[in-house]
Amino acid sequence: MSMLTHTEIKTVCTPVEPGEDINYIIAKMNIGIREGKDGLGLAANQVGETKRIIMVDNGSFKHIFLNPVITRRYGGTINSREGCLSFPGKTALVVRHKQITMEGLSPTGEKLAFKLKGLNAIIIQHEVDHLDGISCMDKAFKVITNKVSSGEPERG
Ligand SMILES: [Zn+2]
Repeated sequence: MSMLTHTEIKTVCTPVEPGEDINYIIAKMNIGIREGKDGLGLAANQVGETKRIIMVDNGSFKHIFLNPVITRRYGGTINSREGCLSFPGKTALVVRHKQITMEGLSPTGEKLAFKLKGLNAIIIQHEVDHLDGISCMDKAFKVITNKVSSGEPERG
């Protein structure tokens, strides 16, 4: 069975508490993100753990965030075409903000804060939605079933 078929993707995740052992969750997420070809991000509830942890891996922008919060959404919106590791073979068209500011903690407790645009802003919006039990399929104004070997990216 795939690691990525969990009913917990409908669950609102709870914050990571100071000192809480989350290493086993990150280990599961590291395996889960590799399960999807071209996965750019993953939320803990996609591997069945209902803690507020996301992982982003977009080449140069590679981070794990505990308790991530989007603090500002601006710059207008775009229609984003997204895949999700929890919904292989489907693509969602979703309205996203073009720019965000966000903050969270690293796994070692350091404060992280970023101003993001483009794909990185979209990945964070997609993953933070997961932590609230919302997938891009829930938000989609259109869902497309991909043709076999269409090469659509699985974004997380
Ligand atoms: Zn997803």
